Amino acid sequence: MTYVLPDLTYDPGALEPHLDGRIVELHHGKHHASYVAATNATLDRLAQARADDRWDSIVGLEKSLAFNLGGHVLHSLYWANLSPQGGGEPTGGFADALGGSFGSFAAFKAQFTQATVSVQGSGWGLLTYEPLGDVLIVEQLEVHHQSTVLGGVPILAIDAWEHAYYLQYENRRAEYMSAIWNVVDWSDVEQRWQSATRAG
Ligand code: MN
Repeated sequence: MTYVLPDLTYDPGALEPHLDGRIVELHHGKHHASYVAATNATLDRLAQARADDRWDSIVGLEKSLAFNLGGHVLHSLYWANLSPQGGGEPTGGFADALGGSFGSFAAFKAQFTQATVSVQGSGWGLLTYEPLGDVLIVEQLEVHHQSTVLGGVPILAIDAWEHAYYLQYENRRAEYMSAIWNVVDWSDVEQRWQSATRAG
């Protein structure tokens, strides 16, 4: 097994009342787990294709890898970005970087909120460090892998698929997004920004 489902670092109910424990339990234990299993199965099938030198399924397998591994990467980031001790605003150098790229924290938050809430169908809101311009950008990701900027390093990922909020918020995605700000772990996001800028 190349990929394994990472454990949550908090109890599923620890993000309540902002995010219902049953949502976290199903989302992590069923949805995220299925992306991990499908990624490993796809890698096995690709190994078999190489061994057999048989490529009739290559297009579907590469698409499956992008969808499922993309899902695993994003969900791993999402769980780590959230914390029962989250909320508030970032400080220090990272706050300055957000201000430099977006004008202010409030302006960043407005853009991220609007981008995430308005995803058509299933997708994600991302805050991404883009090394070529040495800037932070917001991306409105479709599904797990479409409409993205290659080479950028996502440091905050918020799931806007219905499974992320429907049991608690029904069709009110904007309420979910508003509640999620209360559990965003800015220290985790800042650490990811520091690693990404060092790598860049
Ligand atoms: Mn999800």
